[in-house]
Amino acid sequence: MQLEKINAVRGTKDIYGENIKIWHKIEDEIKKLAYSFSLHEIRTPILEYTDVFKRAIGKETDIVSKEMFEIERKSRNLCLRPENTAGVVRSVVEHSLHREGPKRFFYIGPMFRAERPQKGRYRQFHQLGIEIFGDKSVYADFDVIYFNVRLLEILGIDNYSLKINSVGCPECKPEYIEKLKEFYKDKKQNMCENCQTRYDSNVMRILDCKNETCKTINNSAPSILDSLCENCSNHLKSLEAMLGNVAVKFEIDTSIVRGLDYYSKTAFEIQLSQLGAQSAVCGGGRYDKLVSYFSPKLDVPAVGAAIGIERLIMAIEAKKSYVAEPNFLDYYIVVDASVDKAGLVLIMLEIRNRGYSCLMNNGSKNVGKQFKEASKNNAKNVLIFGEEEINNGTISIKNMKEGSQKTLDLESFFNSLEGKNI
Ligand code: AMP
Repeated sequence: MQLEKINAVRGTKDIYGENIKIWHKIEDEIKKLAYSFSLHEIRTPILEYTDVFKRAIGKETDIVSKEMFEIERKSRNLCLRPENTAGVVRSVVEHSLHREGPKRFFYIGPMFRAERPQKGRYRQFHQLGIEIFGDKSVYADFDVIYFNVRLLEILGIDNYSLKINSVGCPECKPEYIEKLKEFYKDKKQNMCENCQTRYDSNVMRILDCKNETCKTINNSAPSILDSLCENCSNHLKSLEAMLGNVAVKFEIDTSIVRGLDYYSKTAFEIQLSQLGAQSAVCGGGRYDKLVSYFSPKLDVPAVGAAIGIERLIMAIEAKKSYVAEPNFLDYYIVVDASVDKAGLVLIMLEIRNRGYSCLMNNGSKNVGKQFKEASKNNAKNVLIFGEEEINNGTISIKNMKEGSQKTLDLESFFNSLEGKNI
């Protein structure tokens, strides 16, 4: 019987080899940058109750209505998280973390959306997210945006376009929604099917529709900037001034409304044109009311953003701004057929204990083949244990790059290994 081949699920990826090094590089830079911004890591479960997202993101959004990997259970349905702001908010409320004063978090991890896979759009993808709780000042919005801009710069991606907008607050948003409904009332029959649904479910989302006819109609839609209350308007102006102060280029784009219901005031996106159709690399904004969706008495302002790691990597690869080093092995032990390997295991472990990578030949008796094995492993040094070395308590070390060889007694060899910065 022939077994059916089992591959990775469409829209998911195995990450290994040279590729994993870009991930490590990005993760290292994120951790350093997060430390300098005093953002601390939070790890929440990948598996959450579906209600977490229904409550936070809204049942009518594409993510909840169409894109969740949901697991039906007798009691309460579970799902693989499609994003992580909702999970972090759930955690903050569950553990009353807001009580300890402003909280500044970051996370990196996989998210899952049942989308049609295409370039830059996967079913399992990874996000770096940052979330700041308990800070209603515009400084927090600035920090969230500047963190992402800085990360792009550090990774050598400088051709980003940052678009910011304000989506208003419960004071001014309802009036704007009324204006939009009035504007689209006699136009919606000419718009795409999605927009016709959005007219009732979330009319502001019509503004970021990519359909050409809808885009043309949207060009003459009322601007939210004319409807913002004084507070929201000042918030946006202060943010513009702060970004201007540090020479971050941005444009105000009133079509940036973000797909999710929970935003208020600042909404922003960072786009990279080189990514093609999926040009958004980062999106976020303020969500002052989201905590209250989980606990109505709580008033904890918050602001955050998520950046897609796969799209970051596509940009890094396009720019060739990072070249991964191949894997090296510090020491490969070549063993003469006459030598008992059991004792050499101890030497191998001593080398490893000092923080160096070390492998020993396990199979071939032929010394020539063992050297080939060492080269395949990119060994920097080969340690040779022949009969002579064993009899004299010495070790011969061949530097593979230079081709030079020296013989040391074991003690001198181990002394020469000290001082490795692990
Ligand atoms: P969102 O949570 O939809 O605002 O997405 C934030 C960022 O996550 C986007 O700007 C993308 O970089 C990334 N992203 C969202 N959905 C996907 C996906 N299906 N595949 C790959 N990256 C994604």
